[in-house]
Amino acid sequence: MPKGILDLNLNLIRPMRVTILGSGTNIHPTRAASGYLVRTDHTILLDFGPRTLANLMKTGVNRHRITHILFSHYHADHFSDFITYFFDAMIFTKYQGGTRPPLTVIGPRGTKKFFQALFTTLPGFTHAPFVVHFKEVADRAFMIGNTKVIPRTVTHTQNLHCLGYRIEYGGKALAYSGDSQYCDSLVRLCGDVDLAVLDCSFPASRPSPVHLHAGQCGQVAREAGVGRLVLSHLYPITERYNVREQAGEAFGGKIVVARDLLTIKL
Ligand SMILES: [Zn+2]
Ligand SMILES: [Zn+2]
Repeated sequence: MPKGILDLNLNLIRPMRVTILGSGTNIHPTRAASGYLVRTDHTILLDFGPRTLANLMKTGVNRHRITHILFSHYHADHFSDFITYFFDAMIFTKYQGGTRPPLTVIGPRGTKKFFQALFTTLPGFTHAPFVVHFKEVADRAFMIGNTKVIPRTVTHTQNLHCLGYRIEYGGKALAYSGDSQYCDSLVRLCGDVDLAVLDCSFPASRPSPVHLHAGQCGQVAREAGVGRLVLSHLYPITERYNVREQAGEAFGGKIVVARDLLTIKL
């Protein structure tokens, strides 16, 4: 390829963009549950909780172009819209003349068993007319095109393998905690990222044993040296507290309280 064309292509690389599809939890009056749209050279979803599919439609992104869905774990608030999404994709490709690229579903240990049980139980799911791959990952980096994905085991609830994800593209890095307690692994996942989206389920004064609280989000951001901190996965009770202020006691950088459909460019 002549050098001029290569230069032109490099200039056309668009920055990574993250759109918050859901910043709440299972039941929340104004926020969808966990879900994030990440646009790099691929269109990727991180988690797919209830009501996030409706928000995905509002972004204008063609849902049939999504090639990879990365799950942190399978608590319903991170997963349940996948069922609706997949059923729709089957109707689209089977009866509406639609085509779509292969879909790769990636998640923690147990992913294959989980989807095997689900697909053999839900009518029609084993007969999708498009290719579906299931991939279990642990603490090893892999590539999706030019996008580097680094999964990392974090501590959430007992006996459940939960992953956070670090995504690197175009010289920028994003970290997503999934659901996590404070742990060294999470700090390492977030090391020097430009943007960290953390599980801020509860305020510092109402902590939970299995989630971070706002003060711990600030602590992780400071220890990891993150650029910008996004507080997300807010439970309804958390709305009554100033989580930005609580996180700001530990972290002096920029803090954003997540809201659905907010897009951040990296
Ligand atoms: Zn969870
Ligand atoms: Zn959760």
